[in-house]
Amino acid sequence: MATLYANDPIGRTLCLANGNYGMVIQNGGVYNQASDIDFNGYYTELGLTGTKLGCGEGGCGACTVLISRCIDRDSGEIEHRTINACLAPVCSIDGCHIVTVEGLGSTNKSNLHSTQIRLAELFASQCGFCTPGMVMSLYGTVTSKNDSLPTMEDIEEAFDGNLCRCTGYRPILDAAKTFACDIQKLDYQKSSSPRTSTTFDKCLSYAHQNTQPINQIKFPNKLQDYVPQSIHIKGSSFEWYRPIALNELIHLRHTYPGNQSKLVFGNTRVEFERKYNKINNFRLISITHIKELQELKRTKNSLYIGAGVTFTRLKSQLIQWNNDDSFCQALLDQMKHFASTQIRNVASIGGNIITAAPDSDINPILEAADAILELHRADNEKVRQIHLCDFFLGNRRVSIADNEILVAIHIPLENSSNKYFLRSYKQARRRDDSKGIVSAAFKVELEKIDSIDNQWKIVSACFSFGGMASKTISAINTQQQLIGLLWTKQTLNQTYDMLIKEMPLNELSPGGQYQYRQTLMQSFLFKFYSYVSNELRQSLIDSIDISCRRGVSHGQQTIPERPVTQKIVGSSLSHRSAYLHTTGEAIYIDDMLSHVNTLYAALILSTQANARIKHIDIEQASKVPGFVSFVNYTDVPGSNQLSGILSDEEVFVSSIALCVGAVIGLVVCESEHAAKLASNLVKVEYDLLLPRIFSIDDAIIHQSYFGDEISLGKGDVDQIFLEAEHILEDTLYIGGQEHFYLEPNSFMVIPSNDDKEINLYLGTQDSSTAQELAAFVLGRSVNCITCHVKRIGGAFGGKSKRPLPLCLATAVAAVKLNRPVRLNLDRSTDISITGHRHPFKIKYKIAFNNEGRFLGLDIQMWSNAGCTLDVSKRVMEHALLHMGNSYQFSNLRVHGRVCKTHLSSNTGLLHKYMR
Ligand code: FAD
Repeated sequence: MATLYANDPIGRTLCLANGNYGMVIQNGGVYNQASDIDFNGYYTELGLTGTKLGCGEGGCGACTVLISRCIDRDSGEIEHRTINACLAPVCSIDGCHIVTVEGLGSTNKSNLHSTQIRLAELFASQCGFCTPGMVMSLYGTVTSKNDSLPTMEDIEEAFDGNLCRCTGYRPILDAAKTFACDIQKLDYQKSSSPRTSTTFDKCLSYAHQNTQPINQIKFPNKLQDYVPQSIHIKGSSFEWYRPIALNELIHLRHTYPGNQSKLVFGNTRVEFERKYNKINNFRLISITHIKELQELKRTKNSLYIGAGVTFTRLKSQLIQWNNDDSFCQALLDQMKHFASTQIRNVASIGGNIITAAPDSDINPILEAADAILELHRADNEKVRQIHLCDFFLGNRRVSIADNEILVAIHIPLENSSNKYFLRSYKQARRRDDSKGIVSAAFKVELEKIDSIDNQWKIVSACFSFGGMASKTISAINTQQQLIGLLWTKQTLNQTYDMLIKEMPLNELSPGGQYQYRQTLMQSFLFKFYSYVSNELRQSLIDSIDISCRRGVSHGQQTIPERPVTQKIVGSSLSHRSAYLHTTGEAIYIDDMLSHVNTLYAALILSTQANARIKHIDIEQASKVPGFVSFVNYTDVPGSNQLSGILSDEEVFVSSIALCVGAVIGLVVCESEHAAKLASNLVKVEYDLLLPRIFSIDDAIIHQSYFGDEISLGKGDVDQIFLEAEHILEDTLYIGGQEHFYLEPNSFMVIPSNDDKEINLYLGTQDSSTAQELAAFVLGRSVNCITCHVKRIGGAFGGKSKRPLPLCLATAVAAVKLNRPVRLNLDRSTDISITGHRHPFKIKYKIAFNNEGRFLGLDIQMWSNAGCTLDVSKRVMEHALLHMGNSYQFSNLRVHGRVCKTHLSSNTGLLHKYMR
């Protein structure tokens, strides 16, 4: 068994030792006997906190790091890939050089990398939480181009996996594009006077510095000659195998079939399953180093795509193969908006097939191209081939034996004289990094039957869809009925109906939006028909330009002229912490070093709404090594019932959990891992109560409100409606939104025996209320409580009131145990318990005359406040006062009611003047 090496950017050597999961740093001491395989956790333990944990699902890019490895020892060729650290198992980095944001430059050493300088100085950071990820995506693009510069398009593509919530993408992309070789091509407006400048002028001044080579972190010599070997690593709760030969892999899978092991390539799906199914013991077999799974070959009759080829490699190969080949083009088109750069860099085509997601964007193309899968297994060296269309059995179910391995995908190439067309389409909620609501691939084989009239007959067809059923599905009946028909508009019209008959969605169909999905399916068909007809040069009355592609984005801001005497006001200043943001040196709560003796908490949340707690069983949880205490309402030294603006809330549920996500208690352990483990073992029994009210309409039926109706009015509304020439009335619903700050809530509370002081570290927009409530709950005077809010990684109103009860719960634990306690929420917990913006129902009636002038307005509004009031009354007042918007209504009546439901409390941030 091997000893594995990987270098981290500050020069220490990470070593995963033989059969034992440990990390050894260069001075030879064992660094840590880690209990998890999480890469994010690893470098945080090393003190490399620049890489942020935003979503933990590869969806936000805040944890982007660059990994490089030598892929050809003879030529010394190095492959660079940006990846999401949150999805990378630490064992998978064997032989890789990892560069995190700290490796690029530091304000301390005054050696900032040009990517860090430009993003900082060109206003590309605000809360700064996403910025290290942005820096790494940019550094990854300039690095992977070796000695040349990327294009603007390369740069935009490199950012497709990075979310920003507050800065906005314009300054980020502007700053990044100063590294583009073609930035001069941008069509921009020159500033109109010498004293007026534009943001673009400033960008150009940086772009002119590109004559110097961009500094790159050297790939360590030690890794240049590294030869991968088979690995077996055993941790306390997992095993990691990495075979390097197909036979070895087949044997391993045979030894550990079915659930006894899990094959893993990019881990983009496996990690998700591990987290959400809360699997704590597992045996992973990494298949990244099997040659046969890496192959890409083209023969006269088919394409061979190894199951372990990443989407990034596949894309560059398809570009080389693509001689107007319809399959290659269709797949390339789909991959343009498939996941993100970071995901495409690690995820494999085989992983996508085996995952068998009903909304996969890739599988419809493979199915339309009649792909054949090659599966291997140990019994009698068996190799099996199966058509992809027979492989999918149902939602995430495939026809694979317990010990089988998908080795390759064969795509047959068309050789007849007929014409073949294959095209793919996708409509997603977000253009990049999101699966399609519906995706489709259409393939037809056409035979010319009349040269004069340019008539074509359909010889065969395959129409395959994602998002229309519980699995990737072909419209088999439609396909058959089309055979022999002419390729005409009339056929198209018939096909619309055939498809709807064959894919009969209704309001109960999983995935919702059934009419929209059906319309998408038909629209894609129309696009395909238009494309093919254009290619065939058939005349089309209503053909559309389907080749429409958006160019690189660009915007510019004019920095106006200022009086000579005015030095600061009106000048563009970078964020005060901009360099700290781009170096990852800006400290958020989760990044703070733990004090000696720190304990870690995990939440016990109600899984029921409106339910009386009958019994809490912590027996199993208390057996977890490192378990320290269970903390609930009985431990509150002051008042469990809060006061002031949160007076209808408790720190911990004392009797009735009003909503799913209500905090019943905390499990406190010596490590975060133990706390999570133990919290999953706490069992709570409930008595369910009635009614359970979730929607505004439910609340209206049950007359469930906070306070009385509030109203505003002026003029004589009743009279105006009697006299009005026209009246329009309707009801509209506005959904609530997640505030979506990139930094999930995180808390640290440090008690002290010195004058009974308590230090709270939290990210809130309302630190004074936090201080007052902490004093009240802990039974101390306000001057004992110090509330530290250094910076917040985004808030948008979501961190005004909702973090407070969670911080108070942490404080109760810290006081009970007289030790520092930390509580970090992961993204899904944060989203599910911290409330949203308020959903509204609005019933309106408007009077207007023949000229279209508004005369009077009568409105009834209801908001969904959730289970406690929070700032909901003020939000309603705000809604009432702002309802007129920019219109002047002489006759106006508005009523508002705040509905009380069994959802987590919705919230917002209101400006001071509204208080
Ligand atoms: P892994 O997670 O390593 O494995 C997935 C499954 O396949 C596991 O069950 C594993 O045991 C099995 N497996 C893997 N290889 C083999 C093999 N050779 N033989 C047998 N079993 C095997 N998908 C889309 O279609 N469109 C999108 O736009 C999209 N966007 C995404 C965005 C994000 C942020 C993420 C996280 C995923 C997205 N996906 C999307 C899904 C993604 O494409 C798949 O998760 C990915 O292709 C799986 O590949 P992997 O190598 O990571 O598989």
